[in-house]
Amino acid sequence: MEFNIAVLGGDGIGPEVTDQGVRVLEAVGRAFGHNFNLSYGDIGGISIDKHGIPLIDHTIELLDTNDAVLFGAVGGPKWDAPDAKVRPEQGLLAMRAHMGVFANIRPVKVYPQLAESSVLKPEVIDGVDMVVVRELTGGLYYAEPRGRRETPNGIIAEDTMRYTEGEIERVLRVGFELARGRRKKLTSVDKANVLECSRLWRTVAARLGEEYSDIELEHVLVDACAMQLIQRPASFDVIVSENTFGDILSDEASVLAASMGLLPSASLTGVPVAGQRSGGLYEPIHGTAPDIAGRGIANPTGSILSVAMMVRYSLGLTEEGAAIELAVDRVLGQNARTADIALPGAGHVSTKEMGDLIVAAIEKAG
Ligand code: NAD
Repeated sequence: MEFNIAVLGGDGIGPEVTDQGVRVLEAVGRAFGHNFNLSYGDIGGISIDKHGIPLIDHTIELLDTNDAVLFGAVGGPKWDAPDAKVRPEQGLLAMRAHMGVFANIRPVKVYPQLAESSVLKPEVIDGVDMVVVRELTGGLYYAEPRGRRETPNGIIAEDTMRYTEGEIERVLRVGFELARGRRKKLTSVDKANVLECSRLWRTVAARLGEEYSDIELEHVLVDACAMQLIQRPASFDVIVSENTFGDILSDEASVLAASMGLLPSASLTGVPVAGQRSGGLYEPIHGTAPDIAGRGIANPTGSILSVAMMVRYSLGLTEEGAAIELAVDRVLGQNARTADIALPGAGHVSTKEMGDLIVAAIEKAG
């Protein structure tokens, strides 16, 4: 089969890890007889440097005309001045809004092979297998009014958290549907003791809970959830949260898996259905890692597993997605470790060498 994929590496380690994701995609093409037409575009800091703005029309056209988008990450100290007029993150937020991808799905799984690399005790992380669903196009990161203004009493900065019932319901439905295909437990995270948005969130979650009566629903306050993620991580199945809480909790959850470099994500416009075709944005959960950018040591696994989610959810290629995940599992089983997951004193492989090993595992299986 033939597919069109937009590739937006972005900044820092974004292009480094995305290159390996692309190599894995091409290996899948060779092993399973598919043709992937790749179109590259700029976004974020590199786009500001080249074109003056973080998201240009050419990139927007790529979002509109391809079957799926493989993205790296944007941002970095170069574009971070507090008074900067244009910022890389504006491109990212505008891309998500343009694509309407309101559900960010982040699976967090602990590989038994990596138990020793985690900062948490093996008995705490044993059996961790959860999905964090983060609302991605609403709340504090988008709502108006926002900004800074001078007043006689000094500068005022403001951001607005706003959610409609519809925005809450559609992302919770994604969570309930995912839970249905898993262990049938949904944790709805809010701050209903303080925030009006959260009280509406909880009301909608409770209403949907009656409709999805086969799913065990629990409501947890975000501060308690932050603790429980470390105390009892294996008890979570699907966690659903609004944008800001989800951003923070999913990074915290990544620590369970030993490194954020391992974790993928899919941003979708609805409930993911394996085997069907629909657009989506796929990216590792990490940022541009300026501290290691350009050194060839970033872990590309998050990008590679994002490719697995992409072929499964946007291209309808279920078997191919499983083949990528199996290849990652095998390579970790052979003790291949990038620097972030290597044990102290043990050697490690480079970004490209990790890509080589996963590509080879796919070719061998194919
Ligand atoms: P980060 O995720 O870039 O890095 C956090 C830590 O994890 C760093 O020590 C980094 O070296 C390490 N790390 C991250 N990915 C890794 C990988 N693949 N392999 C090995 N180690 C890895 O977060 P940060 O340092 O808070 O942010 C850096 C920049 O990235 C900022 O400009 C931020 O705005 C941006 N950012 C972008 C996105 C995105 O584009 N989606 C997401 C988060 C942060």
